[in-house]
Amino acid sequence: MKNIRDFELSELEEEMINLGEKKFRAKQIFAWLYRGVNSFDEMTDLSKDLIEKLKANYTLECIFLDDFQTSKDGTVKYLFRLVDGHKVESVLMKYKFGYSVCISNQIGCKMGCTFCASAKIGFVRNLTPGEIVGQVLKIQEHSGEKVSNIVFMGIGEPFDNYDNVLKAIRLLNDPKALNIGARHMSVSTCGLVDGIKKFADEKIQCNLCISLHSSRDEVRTEMMPINKRYSISEVLDACREYIKKTNRRITFEYALVNGVNDNREDAIHLARLLHGILCHVNLIPVNKIKDGKYEKSSVEKMMKFRDTLNEKGIVATIRRELGSDISAACGQLVRDKQEQ
Ligand code: SAH
Repeated sequence: MKNIRDFELSELEEEMINLGEKKFRAKQIFAWLYRGVNSFDEMTDLSKDLIEKLKANYTLECIFLDDFQTSKDGTVKYLFRLVDGHKVESVLMKYKFGYSVCISNQIGCKMGCTFCASAKIGFVRNLTPGEIVGQVLKIQEHSGEKVSNIVFMGIGEPFDNYDNVLKAIRLLNDPKALNIGARHMSVSTCGLVDGIKKFADEKIQCNLCISLHSSRDEVRTEMMPINKRYSISEVLDACREYIKKTNRRITFEYALVNGVNDNREDAIHLARLLHGILCHVNLIPVNKIKDGKYEKSSVEKMMKFRDTLNEKGIVATIRRELGSDISAACGQLVRDKQEQ
């Protein structure tokens, strides 16, 4: 059976017409979904008949809060259970500008980045739009806070689940649904060139982040096997094309690993590579994962790396780390608690 949370409003309108109902019923149902109801019976302005029809045609249950953990810095990591019993994690972070949620889009990940915990767990399936958006709805319900920013930086590769992620973005953005500004959402990709090209043609003002992590193909391939399929120059060509089409600035993410990608020559090489690209570099200390071979760079080395990039005309900042004490920081999310 179809889940009613997977529809955008226009699709739900079509569904109602196909059920022989008036189109405007879709608006009523849609409003209830984003007011946070957990059953069709709570939709009190619908007739009994329609409620029965909905129950016969759609499911509504989607995602359940299983557990949460709060960090010293106020970051909350959530574990959600899906209808089929699988689990995913999301993270709520508090910033000066408001609340940001880092959401997952797949159960497991196929990309195999050697520094990332999510890669160590096998890929199971894509999340549906309802399951992606549901993480934000449930977090708002649990925390009592309105979420203002979304980052697609949890488990999964967004461009490997392109259609569902795009639909989720439109639902998050819809004023009648979660009403989160597109400019306040960021999609992060390991560099799937087809996805970058497609994303450039979407009429949505969402930010694009590229996980680069090295300016040298040998090193990047070692860290990110996807580099064998799409080399750095192919990724950067797609980025140039994206900027040309959208006029939007790209963020490059760069996890600094001691002795691997963090010396002065690396910074100079990176600056040369990014020269002329409208971008910003986000430096992150790599988080050590279980059985992981990579160690983070020292704070001093990170600052030097940043300063070298800045000297060479590339805007770079060091990202503040949140939630590392509860394994909620970058690359630490896993599919299921038992697998940590
Ligand atoms: N698949 C997407 C989004 C998921 S990860 C992507 O690759 O971009 C979000 C970010 O966290 C990516 O930049 C990823 O490379 C980074 N990351 C993963 N593991 C990490 C770790 N152990 N330490 C620091 N950053 C990590």
